[in-house]
Amino acid sequence: MGRSIYIHIPFCERKCPYCDFYSIADRSQSSAYIEALLQEIEAFAGSEVRFDDMTDLPDTLYIGGGTPSSIPAEDIAKIVNSIRKLFGFGKDAEITIEVNPSSLTQDKALIYKDCGINRVSMGVQSLDDQVLKTLGRLHDSDCARRAIDILKNAGFTNISCDLMSGIPGQTISSAEESARELTELGIKHISCYSLSIEEGTLFEQRYKDNIEDLVPPEEEREMYHRVRALLAAKGLVRYEISNNSVGGYESRHNLNYWAGGNYYAFGAAAAGYLQDMRFTHPASVAAYIEAAKAITPESIKEYFDSKQEKSDLLITTDIMDREEKMKEYPFLALRTSYGMSRKVFLERFNVQIDEFFADAIRKNIDEGLLIEFEDTIRLTDKGFDFADKVIRDFL
Ligand code: SF4
Repeated sequence: MGRSIYIHIPFCERKCPYCDFYSIADRSQSSAYIEALLQEIEAFAGSEVRFDDMTDLPDTLYIGGGTPSSIPAEDIAKIVNSIRKLFGFGKDAEITIEVNPSSLTQDKALIYKDCGINRVSMGVQSLDDQVLKTLGRLHDSDCARRAIDILKNAGFTNISCDLMSGIPGQTISSAEESARELTELGIKHISCYSLSIEEGTLFEQRYKDNIEDLVPPEEEREMYHRVRALLAAKGLVRYEISNNSVGGYESRHNLNYWAGGNYYAFGAAAAGYLQDMRFTHPASVAAYIEAAKAITPESIKEYFDSKQEKSDLLITTDIMDREEKMKEYPFLALRTSYGMSRKVFLERFNVQIDEFFADAIRKNIDEGLLIEFEDTIRLTDKGFDFADKVIRDFL
């Protein structure tokens, strides 16, 4: 398993009307937030709370959000440099930043490159101006094309773009065209997400009495399949429900998460997994800044050693015992196209997966949703469409 660090930058230029992630448009506290992040990183580094293997160095760092490119690039460089100094990086570590086309500049891209960031994940969503308008995005398609140029000019070769499907007014050919153009621009990793209407968003208000404006589910599925087929034909193969890439360009950070690996997490609302504890942070910039001021290496060590429910800064969401880890294994592994490995399960838990999950495996194989392939049990193409249902059978 890999060893990862996640950093959450909860600021955006503007709140998108469909988004329910923890992010805010008010960036007035961003400097204080960065100071708090640096304090948290330093306190963790001094705490001796480490990955399962004390000697291991992080091999992925992911700076997500929010929109990390909405704050000064120098602040991002400070964070990367602090991680490098206090934790170090493994050989060929993958260091990713999420950016949006509207806030990316050539100067920022050069600073990212200079501090060691080697992978960029950009929220393109579509290259159709009408669709981008419906989504309330700040960029248009030309701005997205320019941003890809900016990244290439700065020397980035590992660029990922997000695309969305099922947006009101979006046609199948519009979705296909966006995917096609990105592949022609040399993008080697594309994540495809379906629009979902989340509680408490402006989209919920806009569409709750106008559901006829939404793309019907069958059409949305068709859109997803057509885009996926196009990507596969261009050499970007699905390796996880929403992620497609050219071989060798998979997100190592996310693969570690789906493999059940350990990861530190720093920042407001950032969720991590260390010493069998799944934990998160307050989903409030002000509360996070306040709490980070008070933490010490000792208080962090104490939180993990005595498996506390909560400290000022960290909130426990789960303490993973053996049984929970066994049940979590299919939940994470089945998301990927590699599926569940009999060997890995046996090595980790000393039980045969076919015995432990006998009913769920048999039922889903009989229904054509799971398939056995060499040592693994994985979703079929049809199974990917019903992944949530299949996974529920294992819980
Ligand atoms: S830019 Fe991303 S994180 Fe920010 S509001 Fe829009 S969708 Fe949410």
